[in-house]
Amino acid sequence: MAKSNSFKAGRHFLQIPGPTNLPDRVLRAMDRAIIDHRGPEFSEIAKRVLDRVKQIFKTKNPVIMYPGSGTGAWEAAIVNTLNPGDKVLMFETGQFSSLWWEIAEKFNIEVDFVSGDWRTGVDPKVVAQKLGDDKDHKIKAVFVVHNETSTGVASKIGEIRKAMDSVNHPALFMVDTISSLGSIDYKHDEWKVDVTVGGSQKGLLLPPGLSFNALSPKALEAHKQATMPKHYWDWLPMIENNKNGFFPFTPATNLVYGLDEAINMLLEEGLENVFTRHTRHAEATRIAVKAWGLEILCKNEDEYSNSLTAVLLPDGHDADNFRKIVLEDFDMSLGMGLNKVKGKVFRIGHLGDFNDLMLAGTLSGVEMGLKKAGIPYKAGGIMAALDFLAK
Ligand SMILES: *Cc1c(COP(=O)(O)O)cnc(C)c1O
Repeated sequence: MAKSNSFKAGRHFLQIPGPTNLPDRVLRAMDRAIIDHRGPEFSEIAKRVLDRVKQIFKTKNPVIMYPGSGTGAWEAAIVNTLNPGDKVLMFETGQFSSLWWEIAEKFNIEVDFVSGDWRTGVDPKVVAQKLGDDKDHKIKAVFVVHNETSTGVASKIGEIRKAMDSVNHPALFMVDTISSLGSIDYKHDEWKVDVTVGGSQKGLLLPPGLSFNALSPKALEAHKQATMPKHYWDWLPMIENNKNGFFPFTPATNLVYGLDEAINMLLEEGLENVFTRHTRHAEATRIAVKAWGLEILCKNEDEYSNSLTAVLLPDGHDADNFRKIVLEDFDMSLGMGLNKVKGKVFRIGHLGDFNDLMLAGTLSGVEMGLKKAGIPYKAGGIMAALDFLAK
């Protein structure tokens, strides 16, 4: 018999910061026959899911659910609220904020894109200053990525809201929570966010394929004035159809079953406990990284992401080579460095359906990989993390 080199026993460790590991309960919930998406059974499920998903965003306002990736929901936030030529404020926190900026540019939005170092979040003081200088209220919206998945930096959305209020500026507030929803606390209503963009595949315990826009009454007002062409992404036919548990086009039936179960799981654990679990795993990860003598990409401790950690390798060491070794030898996928930090960082995803022993396995894989790749590090990061977890 031929010896197979590609066979891997046991479970693959998917430790990229999304898509994430799926709970068996969600997989089983989706393993069901397709039903008529215009029939009474689906209508009941959809109404229930559309209602309960609001709890995850901490909102009482409508949440739109698209079959589509997060990128679509980014576009939807723009075409439903803005007009060509509108001025908006965006911040270069990393790859994902840069991609949202690119979409806005394509729709002829005039973007004041505040440059950044890919190691820090949005500074609320800069928001207050930019909006304070805008006496004629030309800036129609402020766009922020809550958790920059490319850098492991979380911006302080509540503080940014306060900065906007401090200068009484009426701009819409648009926030991307694709890698924070269901893992880092987020308050759509309390923070008066107008459009929250979400995706299924990061902290929401689901496969890729669903994305969200959580709305505010102000966002719906802006929709009335928005002349940007839109069809698939238009909120209004969605809201009309959703009232009866239907969609203007075919919904992703089985992902909706999955979301129903994912919401069950998040609420059974309790959202606050979910956030505490993520905080604890993130802290253990940072303890390991520091004990290894490696540098965390995120500069400010109060902006550390609790869903992923981006780790800088010493100069002259290629992070992609390190990731290749970890994948080949330990069957674990780590996140790559994107764009400006390509080859310089690797990212450890510690979000979603994740527990202490999965984290211990993940950190062990990283420490063994450091050794195999010949990267200078201090042994014992894994022990430091285990001591923390066992406290
Ligand atoms: C993953 C991600 C996206 C992109 O979502 P897609 O589903 O790949 O289109 C956008 N923003 C953030 C913060 C992300 O983490």
